[in-house]
Amino acid sequence: MNNELMVSAICWEMDAAVSASFAHAIPKTDDLLFFCPDCLVDVTASISINKNCFFKAPSLHRPGCRNEKRQSKSSGAGDPTKWPSANPDVIIPSHLGELPKRRQKQKPSMSERQALAKSVQPGVILHPGTLREVVDAWFTMTMSDRKKYPLTVGVAQLNYYDAFAFLSAGGDISSLGCGGVVVVASATSNKFGGSFYVTTRGRFQVGEQMLPIKARVRSNDPDFKLLEDGRKEVQIFLHGAPPALNSEGNYFHPPAVTPYTGFVIKPKSAG
Ligand SMILES: [Zn+2]
Repeated sequence: MNNELMVSAICWEMDAAVSASFAHAIPKTDDLLFFCPDCLVDVTASISINKNCFFKAPSLHRPGCRNEKRQSKSSGAGDPTKWPSANPDVIIPSHLGELPKRRQKQKPSMSERQALAKSVQPGVILHPGTLREVVDAWFTMTMSDRKKYPLTVGVAQLNYYDAFAFLSAGGDISSLGCGGVVVVASATSNKFGGSFYVTTRGRFQVGEQMLPIKARVRSNDPDFKLLEDGRKEVQIFLHGAPPALNSEGNYFHPPAVTPYTGFVIKPKSAG
């Protein structure tokens, strides 16, 4: 019996299995078709009170479907959004950034659904990760997992091992390469006023000077808590446009912060 939430389904337009959180986040106007990989009925994305996204079948899964129990729970007593299950499988992001739309086609027949369901590789789920989600996944992976799990960055189909590069300092800032991969750098944290300033150990040449990248972590930043215990040695993860020199010309700003770019701070090593 399967008591867990249904966290992935097949998306006709994406030609792949996708995560419920992806499906829930896309605008309704995109009008994508999702269906159960087992019994092929239409499913729609929903969100529980615990903020977990899942797929449900408005017109019930077919008898014997491996996702049927999940449905019977929702159609039984009570509100499906109040399911106790708070721990759906954590999906490892397959993309840093938004997913491309692969095709736009007429709605499929049952046999076309079946053919697509068969062609989807088990366990391969498209899920667009934010920079933080992708860094979190990398941070907890073993070396062999990093080599195993694919991660698309921009147009480059990489794996977690190749999508992260340790900072190589000394040259021009344009050699940083944080647009194509996530750059990992050793850094130190210092408090000044109400903020922490995280400064890379590696520096880059500007004229006669060697300047670091420095990120300001304000009290409302998700990384603030990590630094509050007074730790000095951290890692900073950078992704996005090349860092720009600050107005006084004594350090570089990290890439601008969006869900998919900016910086993330982690402890110096796992654990
Ligand atoms: Zn089903």
